[in-house]
Formats: sequence, C-alpha cells, structure tokens
Amino acid sequence: MKDKKKLTTASGIPYAKNEDSMTVGPRGPVLLQDVVLHEKMAHFNRERIPERVVHAKGTGAFGTFRVTRNITKYTRAKLFGKVGNECPVFVRFSTVGGEKGSADTERDPRGFAMKFYTEDGNWDLVGNNTPVFFIKDPKKFGDFIHTQKRNPKTNLKDPNMFWDFFSLNPETMHQVMILFSDRGTPYSYRYMNGFGSHTFSMINDKNERVWVKFHVKTKQSIKNFTGPEADEMRGKNPDWAQEDLVKAIEAGDFPRWTFNIQVMTEEKAKKFRWNPFDLTKVWPQGEFPLIEAGELELNKIPENYFRDVEQAAFAPAHVADGIGYSFDKMLQGRLLSYPDAHRHRLGPNYEQIPVNRPLNKVHNYQRDGFMRVDDNSGDKPNYYPNSFDNIEADQKYKEPPMELDSNIADWYDRNQNDDDHFTQPGDLFRKVMTKKEQDNTINNIVNHMSGIEGEKRDEIINRQLNHFHKTDKELASRVAKGLNFDFKPE
Ligand code: NDP
Repeated sequence: MKDKKKLTTASGIPYAKNEDSMTVGPRGPVLLQDVVLHEKMAHFNRERIPERVVHAKGTGAFGTFRVTRNITKYTRAKLFGKVGNECPVFVRFSTVGGEKGSADTERDPRGFAMKFYTEDGNWDLVGNNTPVFFIKDPKKFGDFIHTQKRNPKTNLKDPNMFWDFFSLNPETMHQVMILFSDRGTPYSYRYMNGFGSHTFSMINDKNERVWVKFHVKTKQSIKNFTGPEADEMRGKNPDWAQEDLVKAIEAGDFPRWTFNIQVMTEEKAKKFRWNPFDLTKVWPQGEFPLIEAGELELNKIPENYFRDVEQAAFAPAHVADGIGYSFDKMLQGRLLSYPDAHRHRLGPNYEQIPVNRPLNKVHNYQRDGFMRVDDNSGDKPNYYPNSFDNIEADQKYKEPPMELDSNIADWYDRNQNDDDHFTQPGDLFRKVMTKKEQDNTINNIVNHMSGIEGEKRDEIINRQLNHFHKTDKELASRVAKGLNFDFKPE
C-alpha cells in the first residue's frame, strides 16, 4: 500500500525483514551481519530499569488541581494566589513493600504521590494514605523496610522480622493500628484519603511562616476491604486497584478529592504537648481544624505506562515558593533520598523526562551527563556569575530564618510526651473506631501475629503485647486471647 509507514531501525533505516533472521540457506546458521536481529534482541534485553526499592507496584493518572478557597494569608505560592487558579497534576498511587508484580490488595500503606505543575516550578507532595508513619528517624528506614520485604534465606515474607522490628520500636504503634484496621486494605485508590504526612511550612507575602499538614480527602467516600476480602481479591485479580482506576477514568467517572490544610503557628508549636514535627503523630483536628483550599480531579490515564508512570520521579525536596520544609527528621531524610533514588534509577537528567519536566523554563548551569536530551542550554554560559546571560538568584524567594535556640533544645529535653507512643493510637482505637472496626482490627492483628514462630516467638509476642497494653488494655487482652497466649503485662 502506497501510504504505509516504513519499518525502520532505531537510526531510521528502513528494512525489509522483521520476522526471519538472515541465514545461510533456509535452515541457517544465522549470519552475524543481521544487525536488525542484534538491535531487536539487544534493546529487548535492556527494557527494564531498576525497580523502585519501595513503592514498586503502582498506577498513575493526570488531572487538574483547582483552588477553591483563599489561603493567601498563609502562603504566597502563586498557585494559591487566586480562588479559581488551576494547574495540571500527575498522581501516582502504589503499595509500598511489594514487588512490581505483587497484588494491589496487600495489607500495606498506599503511596499517594502528587506532582503539581505550577507556574513557579513543580511542587511534589509525596504522600501516603495515612497521616503518620512507622518511624520518626530516617536512620531506621532501611532496617525497617528490610523487615517488610523477604527473609534473606527463605526469600519469604516473614512475620518474625515484621513483628520483631515493631516490638523493638514502639514508635511504630500508631501506624500499626492504622495498618491493621481495614484502612490497611483500601477497596481501591479512589476510595482512600491522602496525606502529606510530614509537617511542612507555608510562607506568606509578609515572609511569615506557619507550620502546615496536608490532607487530601476522598469525595468517593472511604471504602475498604476486610482482611478476608482483600485476601480473596489477591488471588482473583492482583491488579484490582489499577483496573478500578483505569476503568473509572476511561468511563468519564473522574475521582475527586478535597485538598485541605491544618495550620499551626510557630508560637503554638513551641507549646504543643507533642513534638509537632514527629511523623508518628497527628495534630488533633478539634484543635487544628481542616481548612479546605482546593479540589483535585484525576481525568486522564497516561497513554503510555512506562513513559509516564514508571519514569515518574517525585521528591519532597520539590516545593514551590510559598511552601517549605520543617524540622521533621523523616522529611529531612527524604529530601536527600528521593532525588538520590531517581538519579540511580533514571539518571542525573531525570527531570528532563516529559512527566517530570516543569511547565516553566529551567535556567541553571548544570550541563551534560547521561541522557541529556534537551538542548543542554545551547551556547549559553555554563558558569555563574557571568557577564552575558542576565540570570539572577532573586532575593524575593528568601525564606524567613528558622529559629533554633537553647530554649527549643531545652523544650525537647523536657518534653516527656515526645516518647508517648500510645495516647494517639489509643484514641484511634477507643474514640474513632466503631465496634466492628475494632473487631476487624483485632482479627487482622491476630491472623498476622499467628505467623510468628521459632525460638523467639514468645519473646516477640510478649514485647508486642506490652505495647498493645499501653495503647489499650482491652486491645492487648483480646489479641492475647486470639493468640492463645498467656500474657502478663509488665
Ligand atoms: P477526629 O475525630 O477529629 O478525626 C478522626 C480521624 O480519623 C478522621 O480524619 C477519620 O478519617 C480518621 N479515621 C477513622 N477511622 C480510621 C482508621 N481506622 N484509621 C485511620 N484513620 C481513621 O480525631 P482527632 O483528630 O482527635 O484524632 C483522633 C485519632 O484519629 C488520632 O489519634 C489518629 O489516630 C486518627 N486520625 C487523626 C487524623 C488527624 O490528622 N488528626 C487523621 C487521620 C486519623 P475520615 O474523616 O476520612 O473518616
């Protein structure tokens, strides 16, 4: 046919045979000079890039963020400058511990990573579906994740490693309670909330700072699988959540979330009864009410999964002017580790990949490196300062100084509540969960802890039950009963 496109090599050379190798005679051998064969095999061998160490299994969608309320008294971020402002977004959802082929309904936190393409650069809110995390110091992160992965000898998931770590780190209790509630197995990504989780800051046009937390609340309502339902779906359709998102969006049923902030002044932070920068704790909503600021809608499935989802690179380090970091130790650890992971997976120029590219023009003096695929800034100067290019570091982006004085250090030393790992999970169990949710949580814990075995079994169970006991006495006694364990609190 006249108008058909021609099949070519990667260098654009049209060729004649795509299915038969070049041979000596019809039965072979194959000739070394069949470069099309080499190219096809060699490229196929290199199709995989390193799997993400965490959050490997995921799905994503493009959409729109719209500002619905005025929060300019807290932030000078251009995005929030006017009610009605909009920007494109990309969101990637994921499980955390499983490999790329693992099931979507595993009991695990869910990643909820958002990229806002603002006129002032990309703002990444790299959240989860829970407001807290298992640990509060980044030095523990690698150890913790190892316990959620496979045993180095058996290559099996290992309840001993899992509960050994939790029982030796009582700060995990809050997240453990959320994980073992039915929110640990969301029905699908559309039916869960997202949280920035860390404490961040906002800075207004008077250069004043407040501390903020971000809450992204589902408009579809919360819907979860029970433990047995999630187990069943794991076998029936391991890609359930991916399919649910794709089908909904393709059918025009666009999922939406409201976007909210909690605000704490610097003064209040000094007096707050817990460390406001501790990732294992929340700010009670009665004291720090949610302030609605916007709406997020997802409305387009990427046309190519690898291009946009597998190569998406989020980093908490990416904040647009008017939004800033905080003392949260886990956040500070992530500022380093995310871009580091992307440079390893995708290379130093990962921000040139279309899904990671900002809308605005990039001006800097970074040059060259693997896979530099933009114009590499052409003939412009590659050093600063220079007399030619008229690029400046603008002082208007300066943030107010963060006060660090001896009072703050004293206050940390004095505050016993910083090691209170039990009040908030206890509140969750007693005040927030319904009777049914309590029952399901206990069943889920008992089922999982039943897998602990070996010579350290009793020691691990006893230590963990003591943490449950400090959280809620009934919780501990019911878990002990479910495990048929003779528990005597210390
Ligand atoms: P509130 O009664 O004001 O809020 C309770 C919150 O708990 C709601 O946001 C609700 O989310 C959420 N929730 C309900 N069931 C579960 C569950 N099984 N797992 C996780 N979250 C759940 O209470 P407080 O703000 O005083 O907090 C009390 C406890 O609630 C906290 O100790 C914490 O464990 C939990 N929580 C608190 C949050 C916060 O930011 N303050 C956020 C999420 C949980 P929804 O409205 O979507 O149903």
